Amino acid sequence: MKNSKALCIAVASGKGGTGKTTVATSLALSLTPQENVLFLDCDVEAPNGHLFLRPRIEAEKKAVILIPRIDVEKCLTCGKCVEVCQFHALAEIGKSIMIFPQLCHGCGSCAWHCPSKAIKEIKNPIGVLEAGLALKGIRFAHGILTISEPMATPIIRQLKKWQKTETGSVIIQDAPPGASCSVVETLRGADFALLVSEPTPFGLHDLKQVLDILKEMNIPGGVIINRDGIGDFQVDQFLKQNHIPIMMRIPYSTEIASAVAAGKTLLDVSSNYGLEFKTLFSQIKKRVMENETC
Ligand code: SF4
Ligand code: SF4
Repeated sequence: MKNSKALCIAVASGKGGTGKTTVATSLALSLTPQENVLFLDCDVEAPNGHLFLRPRIEAEKKAVILIPRIDVEKCLTCGKCVEVCQFHALAEIGKSIMIFPQLCHGCGSCAWHCPSKAIKEIKNPIGVLEAGLALKGIRFAHGILTISEPMATPIIRQLKKWQKTETGSVIIQDAPPGASCSVVETLRGADFALLVSEPTPFGLHDLKQVLDILKEMNIPGGVIINRDGIGDFQVDQFLKQNHIPIMMRIPYSTEIASAVAAGKTLLDVSSNYGLEFKTLFSQIKKRVMENETC
């Protein structure tokens, strides 16, 4: 809501396999038809939101970044481009400049600083964006990063810009697992972050990393404990000590595990989850409003 009239909720987790997509897709389905929902699967290295929301893909767009190409006739070998590249994608070797396209983030800084206009920017495809209508009229889009392409952040950025957000709509962004820059890119601009964690020592370790990012980015957040009942109470204790709310608990259950494996959401397991997610959404809206007024 900060920068647009839509409410953006990012669903993240410190590690893969915690049930992040199960939560994100269940939340999306619980909000329709009352809310105008846009679901963005930002886990571009392994998108799987489509398995649960089953969109009919109607639009496709290439994701590209602009990488430099140097005109050796114009190059003065001044080294300015190497100096300004924060990603070490350029190197001065003898009297020439070498480009490492796999390291280039397409920021354009080298071309901008080149004193002799020797750098031309060319399009380098890194993946594809797809969009369409999913179950219950949810607007859906995901990015698919080309295998072996290392740059996930530009495709996430393009995915977030691609779909028009409408006034009053709710954007649910399913983040990549972990705590890397692709997670930061997904969280950028979000009004709230839902963190999904397991109550285990590994779960706590990874959760702490994402919580540090939220703190740094000043994004309010809450935690959903998934597979509640396994592990220990360290996550609970940590959250209590740090005044971080547990917003929902999903029990460890073979019924849920089988449903998820079959491409079903929590709403298919029990209709009670529809109400639980609606309540969760109301709590999120309240927290966002409180955060904006303080
Ligand atoms: S900044 Fe331009 S002129 Fe200088 S080394 Fe790079 S490409 Fe060549
Ligand atoms: S576009 Fe940016 S990341 Fe790529 S080589 Fe130039 S300065 Fe480096």
